[in-house]
Amino acid sequence: MRVKPKKYLGQHFLKDISIAKKIADTLTLEGYDIVLEIGPGMGVLTNYIIQKPLETHLIEIDNESVLYLKTHFPKLSSRIYQEDVLKCNFLALFGNKPFAMIGNYPYNISSQIVFRMLDFRHQIPEFSGMFQKEVARRICEQPGSKTYGILSVLVQAFYRAEYLFTVPPSVFDPPPKVNSGVLRLIRKSNFRLSCDETLFFSVVKMAFQQRRKTLRNSLKALNLSDNLKANTIFDKRPEQLSVESFIELTTAIAEDFKGKLT
Ligand code: SAH
Repeated sequence: MRVKPKKYLGQHFLKDISIAKKIADTLTLEGYDIVLEIGPGMGVLTNYIIQKPLETHLIEIDNESVLYLKTHFPKLSSRIYQEDVLKCNFLALFGNKPFAMIGNYPYNISSQIVFRMLDFRHQIPEFSGMFQKEVARRICEQPGSKTYGILSVLVQAFYRAEYLFTVPPSVFDPPPKVNSGVLRLIRKSNFRLSCDETLFFSVVKMAFQQRRKTLRNSLKALNLSDNLKANTIFDKRPEQLSVESFIELTTAIAEDFKGKLT
């Protein structure tokens, strides 16, 4: 029995097994022995992932898919978790062990999955798989583009992002309304930022909340000193700033805060 696709779970099952193989082959196998697949559905991708020399774990929210997987992948049974990836405690599953994350992800929660991955970046040296094309492109985008945004900066601060290939709607059942894109993120060897990381997240989010305004305007609520705000970086809009510039900006803001306390 096949799983009946449920729209509210973003279920679009991949039909083309050559694409499933190509996605599994995005794994470099470097820096981890565990792979976690998100939203395996009926396991079309799982079939190729289990051929890798890795310990495979699956997280799937849909009860019907979980039953299907347990029947078709009995050897994996104890590593199939019926859970919401956005709530799953990876520490409890893997301790401190590093793991790669892969999937043909549910597109309705794409950004949230990426933010979740970032929360666990210390444990995730590699992240790959499929999103709707626009989201995959945005994550890999360079400064200066209209689609360069929060996701691009936050992901690229810690990971090297590669857009790999585009996948048309016709290879899914049911076909989604959009094109899909496969990407791979490989964590930088030195992925700790030279600035306060929590403040970095806040500054990036704040700057892009009003992306058409200059930083002087969008960062007003931080009450920065006039001296700092005179810097020409504040004349810019967030999409003009590289990751490096955001790090420098965060460092300068932290200094400014300190100056106020003394
Ligand atoms: N990988 C399969 C299915 C992709 S569709 C294939 O390529 O054919 C996306 C899958 O994500 C569905 O199986 C859906 O049930 C699952 N899913 C949706 N929301 C989820 C969540 N919050 N946590 C875990 N899995 C989820």
